[in-house]
Amino acid sequence: MICSKCGAEVAEGAMFCTTCGAPMNAAAPNPVPNPTPTPAPTPDTFAGNGAPVYAAPIYMDPKDHTAEFSAKDISDNKVIALLPYLMGTMGLIIAILAQKDSAYVAFHVRQALKLTVCTVLVGFITLILCWTIIVPIIGAIAAVVLLVVDIICFFRVCSGKAIEAPIVSSFGFLK
Ligand SMILES: [Zn+2]
Repeated sequence: MICSKCGAEVAEGAMFCTTCGAPMNAAAPNPVPNPTPTPAPTPDTFAGNGAPVYAAPIYMDPKDHTAEFSAKDISDNKVIALLPYLMGTMGLIIAILAQKDSAYVAFHVRQALKLTVCTVLVGFITLILCWTIIVPIIGAIAAVVLLVVDIICFFRVCSGKAIEAPIVSSFGFLK
C-alpha cells in the first residue's frame, strides 16, 4: 500500500500511515462532490406520446380582437358575420339589422363597412378620372386588392376570428 498523502510505503492492512499518520481508509482523495444537478424545466403538459410540451410564447396580434368576443357569440353569429363579405351591400344591411344582438357581428359590420367605403371611393375616383390612362389602371388594381381583402376577411370569419381587415383597417375611420 502507498500512502496517498506522503507517498510512503505502508504495510498491508494498516489503519494509519506509519510515516505521516494519515488514515489509510480515507487515503483516497475525496471525490469532488457532484454539483447540484440542474433541474430539467418542468413541462406544462405532456403530449399524447409522452413528449413534454412547452407553452409557446404568447403572441398577441394587435389587430386580432378574437379574445374580446365570447365563443358562443362567435359560433351563433358566424353566418350573419359572413354576409357583409359574401353579399356586399345587401349582406351589410342584413348584418346591420342583426348586429345589436352580437358584438361579433358589429365588429365585422365595421370591417365590411370600411371595405365597402373603400370600394365605392375607388369606383368613384376611377369613374371621374376614367379619361386618364393611369387612374383606371390603379383603380382596377385597387379593386382586385379590395376583393382579396374581402376574401381574407370571409375566411377569417369562417374560422371564428375577429381580425381587422388588412390594408383598409389602417385608414383610421370607423374605429
Ligand atoms: Zn503517509
